[in-house]
Amino acid sequence: MTVPSIQLNDGTNIPQLGVGVFQVEPGRTAQVVSDALEVGYRHIDTAQMYGNEAEVGQAIRDSGIQRSDLYVTTKLNNGYHEPDAARRALDESLEKLGPIDLFLIHWPLPTLYDGDFVATWKALEEFRGAGDVRSIGVSNFQPEHLKRIIDETGVVPVVNQVEVHPYFANEAVRRADADYQIATEAWSPIAQGDVLTDPVITAIAEETGRTPAQVTLRWHVQRGDIVFPKSNNRERLQQNFEIFDFNLDSDQMARIDGLNRGEEGRRGPNPDTFDYVPE
Ligand code: NDP
Repeated sequence: MTVPSIQLNDGTNIPQLGVGVFQVEPGRTAQVVSDALEVGYRHIDTAQMYGNEAEVGQAIRDSGIQRSDLYVTTKLNNGYHEPDAARRALDESLEKLGPIDLFLIHWPLPTLYDGDFVATWKALEEFRGAGDVRSIGVSNFQPEHLKRIIDETGVVPVVNQVEVHPYFANEAVRRADADYQIATEAWSPIAQGDVLTDPVITAIAEETGRTPAQVTLRWHVQRGDIVFPKSNNRERLQQNFEIFDFNLDSDQMARIDGLNRGEEGRRGPNPDTFDYVPE
């Protein structure tokens, strides 16, 4: 199975499918990542707040796969938005993970740090300029947050990683991303499993001879988004990887589009008010 690449607005390429390791316990992470690499995944999405970067780094080193064949994303801890703190946090990530392809501001936190996520964005631009990370982007940025950092710095993120799944299509953000030529990364692409028993999804799974997870992930990739479903289980990692050898037709795509519940479909926090900072 060949995973397509998406070209980002800084000229670099990212595999459209990866594996996410949110809520993978540190003790399980190295195994999950090495299973994923054996299945064929070459893109891993972690974060400082997931507490498992060291284990991701260990699995990468143990795999023997050339680092240039891998794509690794991590994200700034909500507690380290001030530029000096961000610098120290990045150094720790580099130590644990090795080279970082993509570094994201995890949450905009507009109600914290005097709402100054622009200063944080400028810090990331410095890290990129110094060659400490290859690309920089954001996560959970609403259209007005994107507008602000772009207007104030002229630097456009390569990706915006936001909640997207059939129950929450997040179209306003996807449209803003597209207008700025920012690639959308869809987090919780199967809504942490919630969409897999939906009758529309299960009917399309029967029609195509695929699983509900494969149908849902296929819907995302046909919309052009980047996905990294999480699984602790090797068979499900394998299943989630096999989504590039079938197509949903326009009627099937439209039926899944029809599941969108707007704001009510959101499973995670609203970025306008989310203010969690780890102790
Ligand atoms: P997902 O939508 O990927 O769903 C994961 C859940 O679905 C797990 O419970 C998993 O169980 C189950 N699952 C996975 N594959 C299958 C399958 N084929 N059949 C049945 N069940 C399945 O949720 P996540 O929230 O983990 O999102 C994916 C990634 O997105 C994260 O790991 C993280 O990298 C990123 N993310 C980013 C956020 C951000 O703020 N930037 C927020 C949330 C997520 P099991 O493990 O038992 O297989």
